Amino acid sequence: MNIKNKQKILLIALGGNALIGKGQEGSIEQQFDNLKIPVRQIAGLSKKFRIIITHGNGPQVGNLLLQQESCAEVRPLPLEILVAQTQGQLGYMIESTLDSQLMKLGIHAQPLVSLISYVVVDEKDPAFQNPSKPIGPVYSREEAASTPYTTRKTAKGYRRVVVSPRPVSIVEKNEIKKLIQMGFIVICCGGGGIPVIREGRTFCGVDAVIDKDLASAKLADEVGVDIFIIATDVRGAALNYGRANEKFLRKLTPEKADKYMQEGHFPAGSMGPKIEAAVQFIINQGKRAVICSVQEIDAAVAGDAGTEIKTV
Ligand code: ADP
Ligand code: MG
Repeated sequence: MNIKNKQKILLIALGGNALIGKGQEGSIEQQFDNLKIPVRQIAGLSKKFRIIITHGNGPQVGNLLLQQESCAEVRPLPLEILVAQTQGQLGYMIESTLDSQLMKLGIHAQPLVSLISYVVVDEKDPAFQNPSKPIGPVYSREEAASTPYTTRKTAKGYRRVVVSPRPVSIVEKNEIKKLIQMGFIVICCGGGGIPVIREGRTFCGVDAVIDKDLASAKLADEVGVDIFIIATDVRGAALNYGRANEKFLRKLTPEKADKYMQEGHFPAGSMGPKIEAAVQFIINQGKRAVICSVQEIDAAVAGDAGTEIKTV
């Protein structure tokens, strides 16, 4: 048996926003540079853990949408195709960055792979009637009013929102399990996965995006992950976020999380799905879930940083 099979499985969900820092224009050089911060830590963690990496794509898919909409000569592609494109883009960027960080640590024999991943959604999901997921750049109120898209005010400013159904099942879950058993680091479910509905024995893509935190929680459950880390651009969850009386939450029980969610502390499309994903994982017998910054993944795994979701 592969010795790695005795190691715990760590799922790290990287935020798409964490790859483009606040105030950055988001050039590819900046994104590669930003990626080194979480990936350096992940390379080190691969000595002790079996690792799955998932990632968001909000800014990247939003930029692709803008690019194609600014060119009238090319037929626009539906979101499912743009999600597939960003899985390729970010899979390549994460895999190549990870490869060089592993080399720097003298780890030469660690296999890794990025997978194009489908995620099944329910065609009757009410989310199809209500666009809710922010993507793309942040607009001022005036800019938002003059765009042809549905926009919504988020913690960062106004952003375009698109349809976002819930993940039902990860299509490649068995393949991912096998790859993990074989010792691979697996990069998968990028951008929440390519949303598909079942049509008899086949799958059909739909024009939507799935929240990557919820897709990651589903994957964590279906694969049987030990530790679920949600890494983003803030140090964790806070009460009264962005106000003078903001209070960072170091620990959070599922009950308290529900209460604060109902009180409106964790908005849909940003902190809301992270809390929901972590709570869902813990309730489904998951062991540890931590929401932390991309800078503090190591410390969060060690139990020294982030918002830890725990039953007691
Ligand atoms: P990601 O790309 O990592 O998924 P999101 O933008 O979706 O990032 O979510 C992280 C953002 O959530 C933070 O940058 C912050 O602006 C926002 N946020 C909203 N409510 C809270 C809260 N209660 N505590 C912390 N951050 C919050
Ligand atoms: Mg997000």
